[in-house]
Amino acid sequence: MIPSVIALDGPASSGKSTVGALVAGRLNYLFFDSGVMYRAVTLAALLRRIPIADEAAVSALAESVQIDVLPPLFNDGRQCTVLLDKEDVTWAIRAPEVDAAVSQVSAYARVRQVLTGQMRAIARRGRILMAGRDIGTVVLPDAELKIYLDASAEERAQRRYAEQAGRGGKESYDDILAAIRKRDAFDSGREHAPLVVAADAATVDTTGLSVSQVVSRLLALIKDRETA
Ligand code: C5P
Repeated sequence: MIPSVIALDGPASSGKSTVGALVAGRLNYLFFDSGVMYRAVTLAALLRRIPIADEAAVSALAESVQIDVLPPLFNDGRQCTVLLDKEDVTWAIRAPEVDAAVSQVSAYARVRQVLTGQMRAIARRGRILMAGRDIGTVVLPDAELKIYLDASAEERAQRRYAEQAGRGGKESYDDILAAIRKRDAFDSGREHAPLVVAADAATVDTTGLSVSQVVSRLLALIKDRETA
């Protein structure tokens, strides 16, 4: 039997969602990108003009919104469909305004508590590969396999630049690199569930590797953990 619950953590643009979706597809597992939940709460706050610095209001919002993560449904490059109170926000949650505010939202303890509970409920069904920052350390500490994907900030900025340019985005490489560095510092330095490598995680440095090379490495790690 291969591990039924796989945790995949790593910094912004380390390839978790691209690689995670491909690996999950090969295993016929659900791919669940937990970052979309923090992004959806952030978008909801921006749309309702709730100040991001207002921790109590943002936390109450996290408790009241309904976030659904479904299979893609459309063939437009999405890895899943994200609904916020039944509205399709799959692309809206990728806006630079959300990128800029999401780390602050995800640093709030109550926001994390609410979303972590929802993630655990989803993982209970098994046959799932869940990607994020704290999946192996906090959300699913008992995951049978934990993988930490890493890559240099420059390489991650290059990947994100290519990805958004391909969608017609206008952000410059330098702005993207600066935003990635800022988000790394925030995600690693926060008090609640900071981005750290789980003691029992296998680290894969993807710098200089192609997507298919990373997929092969992950599949090899998964096969290694196969039990009778
Ligand atoms: O992975 P992605 O870049 O979409 O995640 C957006 C943000 O959500 C991250 O920068 C991080 O602040 C937060 N996040 C988190 N814990 C997770 C997943 C994402 O704090 N498990």
